Amino acid sequence: MSPPSRKSKTSSPEPENLYTESLLQKNGIRGQKALEAIQEDRVKQYRDFTVVVGYNDEYIVEDGMCTCKGSEYNIKSDTNKKCWHLLAVDIAERTGSIDYHDMWYSEVRDLL
Ligand SMILES: [Zn+2]
Repeated sequence: MSPPSRKSKTSSPEPENLYTESLLQKNGIRGQKALEAIQEDRVKQYRDFTVVVGYNDEYIVEDGMCTCKGSEYNIKSDTNKKCWHLLAVDIAERTGSIDYHDMWYSEVRDLL
């Protein structure tokens, strides 16, 4: 007798999940921070800039550069080591989860 054919669950992982998983493996705590920021809508696209809201400050991410101190030396020493703000923007763009604001960041920042 052959064993009853089990219904295999068609649980092929979403490409997004695969991407975030490998991202967490590669980037550890930075990947985690990046994902948290996305989940909490802290990656914001303004008309002029993309901004990541950190714990103490906001950082402008533009053309693979970030205004935080972490990226200044990271970019020069190792291009694979992005700060988590860059990671967050990268993921948010891929997954379409950027929080879009139809405003100019330069004006918004003056209000803060
Ligand atoms: Zn940064």
